[in-house]
Amino acid sequence: MGTSSKVTTEQIEVGGAVKAKCGKCKKETAHTVLALVDEKPSQVRCTICERDHKFRAPAKPRAPKAPRAAKVNPDVAVWTKLSPKWDSAKAKKYNISTTFAKNDLINHPKFGIGQVQQLLDANKMRVLFETGIKLMVHSR
Ligand SMILES: [Zn+2]
Repeated sequence: MGTSSKVTTEQIEVGGAVKAKCGKCKKETAHTVLALVDEKPSQVRCTICERDHKFRAPAKPRAPKAPRAAKVNPDVAVWTKLSPKWDSAKAKKYNISTTFAKNDLINHPKFGIGQVQQLLDANKMRVLFETGIKLMVHSR
């Protein structure tokens, strides 16, 4: 049994065909290799317009660069989603001595409108503000 594992490498040679970008045709066309430099086509002739020119490799399709996602605080995204539903008129002015319950709206002089997300213990709560979650003290 013959093992003919012939590797088919595309041998570029003078007189051979190669795909290249043609400046006149303004597209990728078949070219005839006229001259080689370092086993690469240097001078080619377009088979469409028969113009001789320097070899230009066909444009490689560039992998689209994934836009680098801007770092977004997930809390802020939640705030942006929830805040339009809030009735800011119902927000209680934040005061350290006021007792808040879960889902209460808070009007904080510095952080603006927020919502109590979680009561951690009798005097601590997690509040979602536009800038993110803040740990607040209340009911003191
Ligand atoms: Zn051409």
